[in-house]
Amino acid sequence: MSDQHQNLAIIGHVDHGKSTLVGRLLYETGSVPEHVIEQHREEAEEKGKGGFEFAYVMDNLAEERERGVTIDIAHQEFSTDEYDFTIVDCPGHRDFVKNMITGASQADNAVLVVAADDGVAPQTQEHVFLARTLGIDELIVGINKMDIVDYEESTYNDVVEEVTQLLKQVQFNTDDASFIPISAFEGDNIAERSDNTPWYDGEILLEALNDLPAPEPPTDAPLRLPIQDVYTISGIGTVPVGRIETGLLNTGDNVSFQPSDVGGEVKTIEMHHEEVPKAEPGDNVGFNVRGIGKDDIRRGDVCGPADDPPSVAETFQAQIVVMQHPSVITAGYTPVFHAHTAQVACTIESIDKKMDPSSGEVAEENPDFIQSGDAAVVTIRPQKPLSIEPSSEIPELGSFAIRDMGQTIAAGKVLEVHEK
Ligand code: GDP
Repeated sequence: MSDQHQNLAIIGHVDHGKSTLVGRLLYETGSVPEHVIEQHREEAEEKGKGGFEFAYVMDNLAEERERGVTIDIAHQEFSTDEYDFTIVDCPGHRDFVKNMITGASQADNAVLVVAADDGVAPQTQEHVFLARTLGIDELIVGINKMDIVDYEESTYNDVVEEVTQLLKQVQFNTDDASFIPISAFEGDNIAERSDNTPWYDGEILLEALNDLPAPEPPTDAPLRLPIQDVYTISGIGTVPVGRIETGLLNTGDNVSFQPSDVGGEVKTIEMHHEEVPKAEPGDNVGFNVRGIGKDDIRRGDVCGPADDPPSVAETFQAQIVVMQHPSVITAGYTPVFHAHTAQVACTIESIDKKMDPSSGEVAEENPDFIQSGDAAVVTIRPQKPLSIEPSSEIPELGSFAIRDMGQTIAAGKVLEVHEK
């Protein structure tokens, strides 16, 4: 165990072996509960298949998936010597793009799974493009199913070359990618060096995971505390509550709520029913500010320092990815944007550029419309004041999801904010 934490995305084309790899990682790191393994071991032995526990674990996962009991590979956890890993939502998972962009499960690094017998496939391209757009630091590329290609070095080299070309195409720094020949199913080069690949002397997968760079420490961004609810508590008064995304909150601080545009001095902070003098990112707090009444502030406001208040956008430019829309999106479209705790109708005022999802390059300037699968840069005008920040400055407050007709149709991150 370790106390360093990493959010890891497992990306790659369907059927290339993502779930199997996650199962293998859980198994090899002792993260599958012992009683589950024991049960499978017994079953395997009864059927004269000792040593096949892993296959049984995977079968079980597959069965549960069919029964609709989603043992999702997302949110599974395992530990190496260096890090505690959480697998964040994986592509294929419905809300993957939304979650990745809105930071609900921002991945630090990713493992790209590419089947040796298939090579680069359409979703390989899409996911690599997304990984780059969304700021994945480092990519471990597992060339999987090496058992199917008889552990041939030349096949491995061909696929490595193909993936390298793809990374260059989307301008992913190839120094930040490492390649490993693996078989998730047989366990080659995952936890132990395989005898089947004597020609390979690089790191095996668990070593590469151990050697990932530590995630960026939280930014030294100013306080940003999106307000979730506002209560009135007898004896205290008005108590806004929310989760601190960035910065610190101290009693005595002078704070400002935007876009409501009111402020005052923090009198008390409460966390887990106890009064505390200060709170930090990740803390859920209730607090009381001198002179602020229940009707002065609301859900969707963001609290920040009075001398560095949250930005309020008159318009903002953003990069969006359209996930699902029944028809086309044109200028003038006004769906509801969900950003931190705010929900505000916003008009897509102009579609500035359409991007090529497989290369990340501009495909068309000022297109008439965009549709499912497209990535674009757009200019957005909130219909009511909205506090939001450029993703490059405060990523925690710089992303949003666009919803319409009861579903998430797009997600995006803020490039620039134009204030009044
Ligand atoms: P996903 O869609 O990317 O999650 O792929 P799965 O993990 O569901 O794997 C798809 C199929 O490939 C399954 O039938 C797996 O048993 C098989 N598979 C996965 N990894 C390997 C491997 O390393 N070798 C072989 N031979 N089959 C594999």
